[in-house]
Amino acid sequence: MTPRATSVQRASSASSTLSTGSNSEERPIRVHVLQAKIDSGTIDELYALIDSETGRFLQLELCADPSDADIVITNVRMRKRLERHMDWTLARQKAIVTPEWLRDSIQQKRFLACGDYAALSELREETAANCPDCKMQLTSCHCVSSSSTNVKSSADPATHLITSTKVLSNYAARYACQRASPLVCPNQTLCAELNILRLHRELEGKAINALGYERAIAILKAYPYVITPENFESEVARLPYLGEKIRSKINEFIKFGFVEESQTIRMSERFQSLNLFTTIYGIGPSKARDLYSIGIRTIEDMLRYFDVPLGPDGRPIAEEQIILTPNKRRVPPKTRLPDISIKAALALREDLEKKIPRSEVEEMHSVVMAELEQLHPGCMSTIVGGYRRGKLDSNDVDIVISSFSQNSGGDHIKGLCGKLVRKLYDRGLVTNVMHLSGFHAHNALKTTHWDSLEKALTVFVLPPVDGKARIRRRLDLIFASPEAYWTAVVGWTGSRMFERDLRLWAKVEKGMKFDSSGMTRRHDSKLFVPKSEKDVFDMLDLEWIDPTLRNANL
Ligand code: ATP
Ligand code: MG
Ligand code: MN
Repeated sequence: MTPRATSVQRASSASSTLSTGSNSEERPIRVHVLQAKIDSGTIDELYALIDSETGRFLQLELCADPSDADIVITNVRMRKRLERHMDWTLARQKAIVTPEWLRDSIQQKRFLACGDYAALSELREETAANCPDCKMQLTSCHCVSSSSTNVKSSADPATHLITSTKVLSNYAARYACQRASPLVCPNQTLCAELNILRLHRELEGKAINALGYERAIAILKAYPYVITPENFESEVARLPYLGEKIRSKINEFIKFGFVEESQTIRMSERFQSLNLFTTIYGIGPSKARDLYSIGIRTIEDMLRYFDVPLGPDGRPIAEEQIILTPNKRRVPPKTRLPDISIKAALALREDLEKKIPRSEVEEMHSVVMAELEQLHPGCMSTIVGGYRRGKLDSNDVDIVISSFSQNSGGDHIKGLCGKLVRKLYDRGLVTNVMHLSGFHAHNALKTTHWDSLEKALTVFVLPPVDGKARIRRRLDLIFASPEAYWTAVVGWTGSRMFERDLRLWAKVEKGMKFDSSGMTRRHDSKLFVPKSEKDVFDMLDLEWIDPTLRNANL
């Protein structure tokens, strides 16, 4: 097995075993100290720390060669400088941290998340993804108990499970749900180039071509080695979903380090405009093309076209804020919660385009669960979506909620989603609702288990701090009946391609129907009720894959 495959395997298994340093069966974390720019006194200090009692308790081991290390400690902050000492491709496969990581870890007697100590900002994502122990922080399920709202259980069942070596070496499998796909892969730049082509096809309404690129990206995301001319010939070219056209793009990338068509598309005004328009909630590719065809190019053009009022500072005002009485007091609509029109979405764009750091995701979760606790004590919840897959910055927050209290059938939580949203709105925490569905949403075709999920897609804002308003955020709440909790957790953890293939796998290979709302056998509609996330995988006859290895999209 190559070094990369070993590192993926250990990184994912580390989640359950390395955090306390108490498991003597695990090999130690290997640390290399890059001596350039560190004075000799500090080097002595770092070596002494590694050799200290706590250092040994944490199972740290010095290694002389950076290519053998899990973690590289350095004071170097610039790519150019780092490249004098280690190959950039290698650097992207390691966690590259400052000496503070070691000092703080030793002091706190636990491994701290490497992403918070990245030495090079350019390598922050890679450092976080390659952190041997970060998975503990990355896959937390927050269980709110009735007695203490703020007690978060760090016991995500997922953190006790190990992604098997079988999955890690199964990178040529046809379904994304059979492969381990890290957040950042060894061929991330190539995937980003192909993603431009995918996005371009999608914006131009060529859905089938776009899906072809999406599948190609997904298979490359799981490929554990840097692609070279040698392995391209011997292996990569034979991977599924890499047709002739895509192979030629990969070849181009190997030769030049970029794909010419991707570069051309990036520069095109039409691509830039369409891409910009679709960042606005409610505008899809088709509407974006319509707007472009009538001459709209920029956000300013859009603000004029949709007649969005501007405030005295020239910034757009959200619709919801402009319901004013003669004495300029805001009057919230009583009868219905304000939904989101394109006009409102445009005014909210400045906020909604900003990414949400992990700490704020957790803060939002706590606030929401504290409000829910007052309505219905003892609910259980998991933050899902990109956050659970380890993303450092998310576009929105997704939370799956249920209550496992005495009376079964989920009756006791029917309507809770709507009640919570109303409460959050009244408290000024939810400002808009784009979609609210109940357990009894009409579904004549019975395409989903229509009585097991309630959803609210909202705009949320945390209470102000020191009188300063917070950034408005997208928040998705998914209420599941107890029977549907674990399928909802799996279905909303993503990524999109992982989910698509999970449904396909269930249907084609197992004669099952899977979606967030439940799992049934196709021939007799027998309902399967998983008791854990692992149960979902077992019932579908799939190997367990850690949430942080479900990043089958870019
Ligand atoms: P980010 O939010 O940072 O862009 P994400 O992966 O969390 O990344 P979301 O759009 O929030 O993206 O979706 C999270 C996951 O939930 C997706 O992977 C998708 O599988 C699932 N999902 C999203 N919307 C729906 C929906 N309406 N119905 C069912 N599942 C959905
Ligand atoms: Mg999300
Ligand atoms: Mn979402």
